[in-house]
Amino acid sequence: MLICTGYGAASPTEALAPLTFNRRDVGQNDIEIEIEYCGVCHSDIHFARDEWHFTQYPAVPGHEIVGRVKSVGPGVTKYKVGERVGVGCMVNSCRTCPSCQEGLEQYCAEGLTGQTYGGTDKVINEPSKGGYSDKIVVDENFVLRIPENLDPAAAAPLLCAGITLYSPLRHWGAGPGKKVGIIGLGGLGHMGVKLAHAMGAETALFTTSASKVADAKRLGASLVILSKDEAQMAEHAESFDLIIDTVSASHDLSPFFGLLKRDATMVQVGAPEHPLPISVFPLLMRRRSFAGSMIGGIKETQEMLDFCGKHNITADVEMINIQQINEAYERMLKSDVKYRFCIDMKSLKAA
Ligand SMILES: [Zn+2]
Ligand SMILES: [Zn+2]
Repeated sequence: MLICTGYGAASPTEALAPLTFNRRDVGQNDIEIEIEYCGVCHSDIHFARDEWHFTQYPAVPGHEIVGRVKSVGPGVTKYKVGERVGVGCMVNSCRTCPSCQEGLEQYCAEGLTGQTYGGTDKVINEPSKGGYSDKIVVDENFVLRIPENLDPAAAAPLLCAGITLYSPLRHWGAGPGKKVGIIGLGGLGHMGVKLAHAMGAETALFTTSASKVADAKRLGASLVILSKDEAQMAEHAESFDLIIDTVSASHDLSPFFGLLKRDATMVQVGAPEHPLPISVFPLLMRRRSFAGSMIGGIKETQEMLDFCGKHNITADVEMINIQQINEAYERMLKSDVKYRFCIDMKSLKAA
């Protein structure tokens, strides 16, 4: 076993604290990564606090991992020691179901057993542990290459927030000549604005807060629409090819359906805790679709990273030391971060 240090929760109600735990030894096709940075995703909080009711403790969150290859197993062909690599939300999947065979491991028929945290490491039969730690061992087929021109700390959030937006933008054809709306300017939304703009789409941000207008424009939105302003919303009726909703708080979706063109789609990537009431008539009247999307497969995640390397896109991050993680969680719950916290994992050694 490989002895690791990190930060984790011992129970749903305790703050994250330093801990030591085991990972599997480096196997035939495994890569050992020395973790340099880990982004802080909202899912980390849900997991640490058992809000999805499957957490096994101690719980070590973190699935926006960037680091350097420290050692490789004898069968590894894709990576060399010293290369900069990343790990996102998945470290395994069944590899045989139709979704896995199509490179859509996020929709694996076995469910989310291969999650970076909250899954199971089948080699040692222990709950998988995430990136708030000094190192991680991952099969090379689930390791991503991080373009060397990107700031590695700011690239970390691409591995969850970035791919969560990139995949639906690509799937529903965002690009030149298309008008794309992003609802909400948080960790997910700010990536959506940057990516849609880089793909060449006319990009609009929907927000409830006038204070976000300037920032949205800086990030690449050519339009900022205050969604509570009925007159502004009416101006854009039936004009959007695609709208992506990143908001996970419960809110009324119906006003947005009317903004879609005939046959256009609204995609949910934020995950509200409670079922949403949907007004069906705006969907019927223009054959509109309401869809969902979850992260992206390994192949598409690499494509996204390469796209970001080419267009020099990273997240806007606020760096923290691991010792500040509990305070960071409290600030995230108040949406007080622009737009993603990233942990400098060197701070773990300083502790
Ligand atoms: Zn995430
Ligand atoms: Zn599968």
